[in-house]
Amino acid sequence: MTTTTIAIDMDIPAGVSVGEYERIDGGHAFHVSWQLPDNLCCETCQRESRLQLVEKNKFLSIRDLDLWGKPSFFVYQELYHRCPSCGHRQSLLPPFKRRDVKYTFRFEEQVLVSLIGSTAEDVAVRLGIAAETVERIVKNRIEDAKAKQIDPQRKIERLGLDEISRGIRDMRPFSQT
Ligand SMILES: [Zn+2]
Repeated sequence: MTTTTIAIDMDIPAGVSVGEYERIDGGHAFHVSWQLPDNLCCETCQRESRLQLVEKNKFLSIRDLDLWGKPSFFVYQELYHRCPSCGHRQSLLPPFKRRDVKYTFRFEEQVLVSLIGSTAEDVAVRLGIAAETVERIVKNRIEDAKAKQIDPQRKIERLGLDEISRGIRDMRPFSQT
């Protein structure tokens, strides 16, 4: 098989830039970086300071939207800030995901939209993720909605809470098995 290079238009979250692309088994990997903050507030001592960047020689890969029917992934370098006051090291959270998850905000949206008229099990199978992941995404989104801290860019306003809780009802029998 021969290969050729083509250019495609890709939507990317604000402030994010895409570096290299890599075709991987069963999907697509995009190396991304983002605009780092000048100042950060320490999680431990709460003091604000200039960013003291610590770059780890490690790359993280998280799920993004499907491209041509195959999953795509954002790959990014693990970065830390070391607090000059107390020495605490905290990871820098990219703008395209929440803490402690392995998928982008817009992947969460894809899951929510897929849940309308489908069960959590169907969505999990179709997207190749665990049903627990679907459940966790819905739970986090409901908590976001309750806290009313919705970033307008995340488009959650397209979904009412009724639809989301219907998704939860649909997945209940599944999560009990
Ligand atoms: Zn500190």
